[in-house]
Amino acid sequence: MQGLHIDPGTLPPECETLRAEVRAFLAEAMADVPPERRTRNWSGASEEFSRKLGARGWIGMTWPKRYGGHERSFLERYVVLEEMLAAGAPVGAHWVADRQSGPLLMRYAPDTLAPRIVPLIARGEAYFCIGMSEPDSGSDLASIRTKAVKTEHGWVINGRKVWTSGAHRSHYMIALVRTGERSDNRHAGMSQFLVDMSWPGLTVRPILNQLGEHDFNEVTFDDVLVPHDHLIGAEGDGWKQVGAELAFERSGPERYLSSTQLLLEMLAAADATDTRQAVAIGRIVASYGTLRQMSLGVAAMLSRGESPALAAALVKDQGALVEQALPDIAHDLFGGRSVPGSSLDKVMRDTALSVPSFSLRGGTREILRGIIAKGLDLR
Ligand SMILES: Cc1cc2nc3c(=O)[nH]c(=O)nc-3n(C[C@H](O)[C@H](O)[C@H](O)COP(=O)(O)OP(=O)(O)OC[C@H]3O[C@@H](n4cnc5c(N)ncnc54)[C@H](O)[C@@H]3O)c2cc1C
Repeated sequence: MQGLHIDPGTLPPECETLRAEVRAFLAEAMADVPPERRTRNWSGASEEFSRKLGARGWIGMTWPKRYGGHERSFLERYVVLEEMLAAGAPVGAHWVADRQSGPLLMRYAPDTLAPRIVPLIARGEAYFCIGMSEPDSGSDLASIRTKAVKTEHGWVINGRKVWTSGAHRSHYMIALVRTGERSDNRHAGMSQFLVDMSWPGLTVRPILNQLGEHDFNEVTFDDVLVPHDHLIGAEGDGWKQVGAELAFERSGPERYLSSTQLLLEMLAAADATDTRQAVAIGRIVASYGTLRQMSLGVAAMLSRGESPALAAALVKDQGALVEQALPDIAHDLFGGRSVPGSSLDKVMRDTALSVPSFSLRGGTREILRGIIAKGLDLR
């Protein structure tokens, strides 16, 4: 059996200087944001906030300067992300672009696109959505049916994407589509395209989530004409590229820090003399401590240029387990005594309605465990 070793990451001193700077910024920028809005965490979006972060140099932090980046370390980036998540900052507008679309474009997009678009991401002005899932293709992504056909004037795309988070506020989608016929090799014949969300033929329809809020969408393509130079990477290499993109998608601290507001509310409501509360909250804090070390280890892998896919799958799976247990623990400890309409009450309710999705988005629990088992040579 192959082993898995994640070096617990450690942060160099410059990271703590940066942390103080980020905390001071957040204390001012978030002063008027109520707890229930902080519960939205990285699903919450404010274009104004994203632009402010861009101006501070906190988007595209590790990217080369020629792409508008700031050539800082992955660990410095990690500190900014964890402070944003701990504060429940509305980072959702630029999150996907910063996490995965920018790196994908820099690596694979032609020179007519990347130098023009990536700097807009770093400024907090260009937002992206992920066009992978389809009505009958989620876990089994290789079964997608949305299709691009090459013509003299460009590629013509027809089909349907679903659960597309933030499509309604995005400027671009990176879409995985079929460009070749299905064959025995299920992973062949797929390609990625940069799609401008304002192009004719593209329709975005809202799908409300359990909270009754608009975050996901259905996106239909009806003869959408895509210029030839919007093909990202080589034709037919979509599956390989999407694998690298998913590793970025699963690698960040948001995979265990999406419910911090509930923990803060529990701490505020706790009675220091209540042993049962102390034990339960102490267990949660210990889990967070372990997950943080693992997650920092993933950031350190990224900084060494190693693929974090296996370690990231493990952190995401364990992170979702801890976060999904939180609402029940909060209810058990404080439910009977929380005042209806209080911030604890609202945050507990909203977190309870949000957490089931944590083991679906970005790859389901079963799929992640399959990746972990394969990585450990167990299947
Ligand atoms: C909050 C949220 C945001 C999302 N945002 C986006 C987005 O922006 N872009 C995007 O493209 N997609 C997005 N998705 C979609 C997400 O990636 C899919 O929901 C997910 O991959 C599962 O696909 P599915 O919903 O089709 O379920 P299915 O794949 O049908 O799975 C149903 C159940 O069967 C299990 N299952 C499936 N295959 C296997 C297997 N081989 N072995 C064992 N069990 C299996 C699954 O684990 C799951 O429990 C989002 C989803 C959520 C919840």
